[in-house]
Amino acid sequence: VRQVDLAVIGAGVAGLSAAATAAAHGLDVVLIERLAAGGQIATVDRIRNYPGFPDGVGGYELGPLLQQQVEEAGASLLLDEVERIVPGSGGFVVAGAAGEIAAKAVLFAAGSHRRPLGLPREAELEGRGVSHCAACDGPFFRGQAVIVAGGGDSAFDEALALAETCGSVTIVHRETQPVARAEAVRRVRALANVEIVPDAEIAAIDGGDNVERALIAGGGRQDWRDCTGIFVYVGLAPNTGLLERLAELDATGRVVTDAAFETSCPGLFAAGDIRSGAVALLASAAGDGAAAAMSIVARLAEGGQ
Ligand SMILES: Cc1cc2nc3c(=O)[nH]c(=O)nc-3n(C[C@H](O)[C@H](O)[C@H](O)COP(=O)(O)OP(=O)(O)OC[C@H]3O[C@@H](n4cnc5c(N)ncnc54)[C@H](O)[C@@H]3O)c2cc1C
Repeated sequence: VRQVDLAVIGAGVAGLSAAATAAAHGLDVVLIERLAAGGQIATVDRIRNYPGFPDGVGGYELGPLLQQQVEEAGASLLLDEVERIVPGSGGFVVAGAAGEIAAKAVLFAAGSHRRPLGLPREAELEGRGVSHCAACDGPFFRGQAVIVAGGGDSAFDEALALAETCGSVTIVHRETQPVARAEAVRRVRALANVEIVPDAEIAAIDGGDNVERALIAGGGRQDWRDCTGIFVYVGLAPNTGLLERLAELDATGRVVTDAAFETSCPGLFAAGDIRSGAVALLASAAGDGAAAAMSIVARLAEGGQ
């Protein structure tokens, strides 16, 4: 079994920042990721609020840049999905399909996943019209009618990207007013091919092998709209499944930590979106990761677990 000082689970911005910081301070670090470095923003077209990039940076660029820093600091990246975290004497065993790793400390930075609408046929039509990624799938809907579900920043940012290639974009959100940043709402409202339908939700999805129409319901009205794409941005849910029996979670499913980023399980730390009370921003995820890493460096230097 491979032995390390620190196993970081999740190579989003929080995990990448933590791995680079801990390795730079001399820890033997493995960073375990099931997909690719970058996390949620790996497919986002443009990040406009990350410190140091006044002209913005592609989400797909940020992950590889951070990965480069992680590798230069001496941490290794392992592609695997962690399935178990088992506490034992002197640390943890972290297990996945690729095998087991023994770590003195674990930093959990598994982030969040997108919530589905929860409609019949939604899962079956995923990749056949139902999508969560404008940058990945937008080009397949060139000139066509698509619907975006959600009224937050992700929905509006993705609608802006879709409007460049799609024939028409209809944003459907439950709130009376969008909750996205005013600047994004203003840019969307200026586009001739985008319609915003407030106080409404997608109540059904219909089609054969692919999405063909959606039922928009709200304010006592029900309206079937022809569309070939439905892009879903209705919030996020934390990936805390692995922690359920290990550490205290809050009412939203996020993991509770103390000021040292340690969970109720000694030696198990958490950073980023997964942490109770965290702000869902890349800059704060980076800060969380770095601060958690420093806390772990100090803990291991004390000779503690
Ligand atoms: C569409 C969209 C656009 C956004 N745009 C912006 C923006 O412009 N600016 C901004 O500041 N914020 C933005 N955000 C928010 C930002 O992406 C998050 O706050 C940030 O990604 C959180 O980072 P994280 O490292 O905590 O988690 P994540 O980015 O979620 O990374 C977690 C990683 O852990 C991995 N993982 C999970 N479980 C396991 C497992 N069991 N084994 C191995 N790996 C695992 C996941 O694959 C993932 O790569 C956006 C979010 C979305 C969804």
